[in-house]
Formats: sequence, structure tokens, C-alpha cells
Amino acid sequence: MALIRPDGAPPAFGFPAMPEAVARIPRELAFTHDILPLNIVEGILVVALPDPDDADVLDVLRAATRLRVRALPMEREAIRDHLRRAYGEAAPVLRAAGRDAPAVRMLDQILARAIAAHASDIHLEPRSGGSGQVRMRVDGVLRPLESVPGDLFAAVSSRLKLLAGMNIADRRQPQDGRCAIPSKAREIDARVSSVPTVDGEKLVVRLLDRYGAMPDLGRLGMPPAMLERYRAAARAPWGCVVVAGPTGSGKTTTLYASLAELDVASRNVCSVEDPIEMRVAGVTQVQVNPRAGLTFPTVLRAFMRQDPNVVMVGEMRDRETAAVAVAAALAGQTVFTTLHANDAPRTIERLVELGAARHALAGALTAIVAQRLVRTLCERCRVREAVPERVRATLDSAPEGWFVARGCRACSGTGYVGRTGVYELIDVDDATRDAIAGGASSVQVAHAARAAGFRPLIADGLAKVFGGITSFDEIVRVVAWSGL
Ligand SMILES: [Zn+2]
Repeated sequence: MALIRPDGAPPAFGFPAMPEAVARIPRELAFTHDILPLNIVEGILVVALPDPDDADVLDVLRAATRLRVRALPMEREAIRDHLRRAYGEAAPVLRAAGRDAPAVRMLDQILARAIAAHASDIHLEPRSGGSGQVRMRVDGVLRPLESVPGDLFAAVSSRLKLLAGMNIADRRQPQDGRCAIPSKAREIDARVSSVPTVDGEKLVVRLLDRYGAMPDLGRLGMPPAMLERYRAAARAPWGCVVVAGPTGSGKTTTLYASLAELDVASRNVCSVEDPIEMRVAGVTQVQVNPRAGLTFPTVLRAFMRQDPNVVMVGEMRDRETAAVAVAAALAGQTVFTTLHANDAPRTIERLVELGAARHALAGALTAIVAQRLVRTLCERCRVREAVPERVRATLDSAPEGWFVARGCRACSGTGYVGRTGVYELIDVDDATRDAIAGGASSVQVAHAARAAGFRPLIADGLAKVFGGITSFDEIVRVVAWSGL
């Protein structure tokens, strides 16, 4: 008998867990807080808890089930044992249980609207006074989604936290969690993080559509001549391809599109990522998990023992990773990786800061891309305007007019629909290689690369402005512009 203190409960409250009680408590709630449903007697839900006086857990249980709750004490290990029998071993997935509670409905609605709008992130921000604001990031820009009144905001946040396997009782420590959201065609993976703020706990959800359509390298916005040179480097049997840019600049999408073009049937393609944003058919993908000892360097070294041809390293952010990746490229593998750097020439300096030797870099690097994502103008409402004189004065040659954003129903009043990339590429040739090995500065590397066709980001940005694809305002917002 696992009950350590029966607490005077009648025998009807005992084992086994009654199916009607199990049906009332979502499995993620039960597993997250070690709640064992036992029975429902005269409208009272009877459960076993490690601490039957835990007010937070009891509150959530009442909110989720809309039943009065009676809790009995039981050892945590015993509860977990019984839970596995009652619910089975399946991975936690957001379920429809308790759907009538207002907080549950509100959260479902927020998630559904964000997914429908193809949002990449959802922000649940507390306001002073207890209410909250929900915003979503669409095409790289935050926009309001919903205002949530005070009494509901805390309940919506708690619901999200428990779905994501976070400790709802703790609002003072940053936490992270994850869950799967069933959507129309497939499951969306959600990464949830919390930060305690002066106004309360702020939650951010990152939405990952892992089984969405694979990006097509030819349709990411790379200019045709640049694309041709990039593809040649990406398909080379050895060498390191680096894609640089800040967070949210589409670097990983470029790498996935590059992998998707490889002949995976005849090559061993391995990838270590944090997080895995998409599943790529035929590619061995490993998720970084430091708690389990899976770091970028350990996984990368393990790959090296498995006869690789192509290795993708989600991000180069430490010395060891950079060292193994550069060594692999020199040893005859193709390495794809991303790096936080503002532009392609400065990537060399970043890699040197990470401990890479210049002569090794010169030998290993085949292509360096830097990129940003800019919103593309809504073709239904964009307006043609004369290019202002102050801009024309700074450019060698500029057309008379360009398009600006206006906003209509089709684009939710933003003036933009979707995004495209803005790129620069250093196609590493002998002259650039010599410059890198010889200790050249970023400016000198850029100069050496010009002969092989290197043009800075702003050049591609302006080409897209004058082509009517995006606006000058958008380029100024996303790409540093010192011409004004
Ligand atoms: Zn429009």
C-alpha cells in the first residue's frame, strides 16, 4: 500500500485510479506536478499529491477541472509509478481536457491566431496592475494580438507554463519548457521561457513548424549571380560555408535550403542544432542537450567518428566547436555553420576571436554569406514616390522613383506581406585566402574579395528597393545605413 497517511479517507478513495478521474486531469498537468487522480465522489475530485497542502497545485487543479478537490498524501515515487500505469508512456501533448475553462479557451485562441498568422513568437507581457498584453512576431515585427484582463492573465500564464512542463508555483526564477501544439495539418513545437519582471512573470513562446515546407534555396532572394557562386561552394566536396547575421536573420533557413539540395542518398549528412527548427529528410539531426552531455563539441566529435561527408553545425559559439569544425573542413568534409557577426568580412575576426588560426581559416573557408530578412511590399497597395533628393545625392546612380508601404486589408494595414533575404557573399578565392592568412583587417578582406564579386549588404538592399521588392525604410530598419 503506497498511501503513507490515509488521513481518514474512506476506502472508496483508494486504488486503482478510476478512469473518470483520469479523464478529468490532462496528462501534462498530472506528470508535471505528480498529481495522481483517484476518484470522483459526489462531485469531489480525489487525488494523491506529494504535498496535499500545496495551494498552487490545488488552485490549478480546481481551475483545470472546475471541481472541488480533495488531496491525500502519497510518496512522489509511488505517484509516478501509478501515473505511468494510468496514462501510459506517450510524450506530453496539449490536450483538449478542461476546454471550457476561460483561461484554457483564451490560451487556445491565442495559439490558434498566432499559428494562423504564421507568427514566429508569442509574448505574454504582464502590465502593472495585473493585466497583460499579448503580442506576436510576424515577419520579424511585433504586433498586438490580445489584451488580457487581470484575473485571466495569471491563469493563462499558469496554463501555458504547466503545458510546457514548467513549475507554476515558481514565479521568481527564469525557467524554460516545451510542448507540442496540435495544428490543422501537423504538430507545432513550442519553446516557452519565463523571466520574472517587476510587473510579474513574462512568458515568450517560440513556435517551430518543424514539418513545414522545406525552403527552396532558389527562392530565398539571393541575386542570381550570387546564388550561382554560393551553390558552387555549397556543393564542393570539402570546405567550410559560414552564414553570418544577427538572431532572426534567416541564417538557419539558408543552411536548411542548402542541405536540401545535397544528394543525401550517396552522402552521410549530419547536423547538430539548438534547437532543431525543421526536420530535413535524409539528414541525421541531433538536438543539443547540455544536461544529457550533448553539447556542440561533443556531438561534433561523435559525428567525426561516423564517416561523415557533410556536417551542419547550428551555430559556432565557442572555441572547441570552431576548432573541430575548421579541422573537419580541412580534413575533407563539407561544413555548414552560422555565426553571430554583422557582415561577411568581420566573420574572419569573429572566428579568430574564437581561437581559429588564420592560416587554418584561409584553408578551410570556401564561402561566407551575411544576411538579413526584410519585409516585402504588399503589391496591392504599394505606392510609387519620387526618391528624395537627400538620398539621390548619396548614390552614384538612382532611378527617379521607388515604392513605399501604405497598407490595405490584404496586408493587415502593414503595407508588407512576407519577407525576403538581403545578402552579401565572399566567394573565397586565392586573393581573399592570402588576405585572410596574412592577417588582413575586415576592410582589407572586403577589398580583396571585391575582385571576386563581393558587394556589401546595402548594395543588394538598394537593388531590392529599386526593384520594388521592399522599401527604403525597411532597408534602413534592418541593414545599417550610414549614407544619410
Ligand atoms: Zn496591402
